Amino acid sequence: MTKSESQKSVIIIGAGIAGLAAGCYAQMNGYRSQIFELHNLPGGLCTAWDRKGFTIDGCIHYVFGSAPGQPFNQIWQELGAVQGRTMINHSEMMRIRDTDGKTLVVHADPDQLEQHMQSLSPADSRLISAFTRGIRKFTRFDMSLMQQKPKGLMTPLDWASLAGKMLPYLGSLARWGLVSAREFGNQFNDPFLRRAVPLMFAWDEIPVMVGMSLLAYMHTGNASFPAGASLEFARAIEKRYLDLGGEIHYRSQVEKILVEDDRAVGVRLYNDEIYKADWVVSAADGHATIFDMLGGPFATRALKRLYDGRLPIYNQFQVSLGVNRDLSHEPHWMTYLLDEPVLIAGEERRDFNVKNYCFDPSLSPAGKSIVIVMLRTNYPYWQHIYGHRLYDSEQLQVSDIVIEQLEKVYPGIRQDIEVVDEATPLSFERYTGNWQGSSTGWLLTKQTMMMMVLGMKKTIPGLKNFYVCGQWVEPGGSVPVVAMSGRNVIQMICASDHKPFKTITP
Ligand SMILES: Cc1cc2nc3c(=O)[nH]c(=O)nc-3n(C[C@H](O)[C@H](O)[C@H](O)COP(=O)(O)OP(=O)(O)OC[C@H]3O[C@@H](n4cnc5c(N)ncnc54)[C@H](O)[C@@H]3O)c2cc1C
Repeated sequence: MTKSESQKSVIIIGAGIAGLAAGCYAQMNGYRSQIFELHNLPGGLCTAWDRKGFTIDGCIHYVFGSAPGQPFNQIWQELGAVQGRTMINHSEMMRIRDTDGKTLVVHADPDQLEQHMQSLSPADSRLISAFTRGIRKFTRFDMSLMQQKPKGLMTPLDWASLAGKMLPYLGSLARWGLVSAREFGNQFNDPFLRRAVPLMFAWDEIPVMVGMSLLAYMHTGNASFPAGASLEFARAIEKRYLDLGGEIHYRSQVEKILVEDDRAVGVRLYNDEIYKADWVVSAADGHATIFDMLGGPFATRALKRLYDGRLPIYNQFQVSLGVNRDLSHEPHWMTYLLDEPVLIAGEERRDFNVKNYCFDPSLSPAGKSIVIVMLRTNYPYWQHIYGHRLYDSEQLQVSDIVIEQLEKVYPGIRQDIEVVDEATPLSFERYTGNWQGSSTGWLLTKQTMMMMVLGMKKTIPGLKNFYVCGQWVEPGGSVPVVAMSGRNVIQMICASDHKPFKTITP
């Protein structure tokens, strides 16, 4: 029987946000799709977990596209992720406090931020005004423009239109795109701001332009926390996929991508089951896709170079506490500067940051709170001790140090703790297969910024009928960008099949 275009099939590896999005758009465009996921849950890194009545979020601090009519919102509408969902906005990103109580409040409102920073350091007035001017400008910047059409499908007219839309921002991009938060901090005269500014956006190599965009979107209500936490957000997209007629196989880890005559034809699972399709999309870890699931001649020298360890990634150690104390009057995110460094997991720390999730009362029992401390950590440190008793004891030791630090800001909190939960980079690696437990694929820094702007290839040289999407081909990752990535690969498949790309908003 000859297959009509509408009966063509797609296999997708991974039910993270990229894979779920790819599945939804495949179904919207008349493909028969199935997703194979190693875990028993959707979402991949976009997840949360329950511990004794507390829901611990392991991902979203803010998701772009939360406000109707704003950049990235359309994709969430198409994926059914935002309809009926409460989006929680914060008026400040975080507060950074030294031991004397001096505090930088990172207001999302650029006017408030400007006034506040100038009151902290009048001597830095010009620098502060330039910074807040940039934030005002980025409130009108549409970051989703770069992903709306895959680069490979863009016509000269599309490029001209994109360039026209980017033109008003080129000055700001040039000024702030290649300065890291750390370098920006060094430009301040005030010693407190020199220390605090690099910590404003969670990692100090972040290009200032990215941090500015984040504040700009927080100010416009377009960077919010989805009530119910990250897993619920992912589940909404899983539901949309199933409603569109898609099929998900959980606990189904792909071992090999099957290739015949340089064409991907299907997958083989670890239980030796074989599934065939016209197209194969990997929305799973980039390293495993190239070196394990494909391997052989497809691991080209260029791809080996990409994964040779030179590009930055972000590893996190997360200590999550369920506490029998109401912290709803406390700021949602605090970074404390320490006078004396503390040694945690082999590294000296001079600050530690604490989030409390009381802003979403659905996550903890009434009158109780979730406190999460996130520490950037070193993957090889955890890898070396993994599988030894030391691995468990080291986690306990880190939690203990963290609780000791918390005692200084919330005296007596140790007695109120009902749940202690630790996640190392090895936990992230184990649960999602991500190379070295990376939380965003390639970390967005000055080094990877151009890779993001120019776009990475979503194909593998010499391999037909195969695409890659997700955070390993979208430097900086993030939930909306990987969803766009999943959408992009289906746009490319439609283009190869000479059919128009369609979207349906429920
Ligand atoms: C702590 C943390 C905080 C974050 N904060 C934010 C934030 O505030 N805002 C934001 O937008 N983004 C945030 N991110 C980043 C964002 O979560 C990720 O970039 C994004 O979710 C990655 O999605 P993905 O689908 O590309 O990959 P993944 O989520 O890694 O999905 C890949 C999926 O493939 C599956 N898989 C892997 N190998 C196989 C195999 N062989 N067979 C079958 N299945 C397989 C995995 O189990 C997984 O489900 C954060 C991430 C972390 C970890």
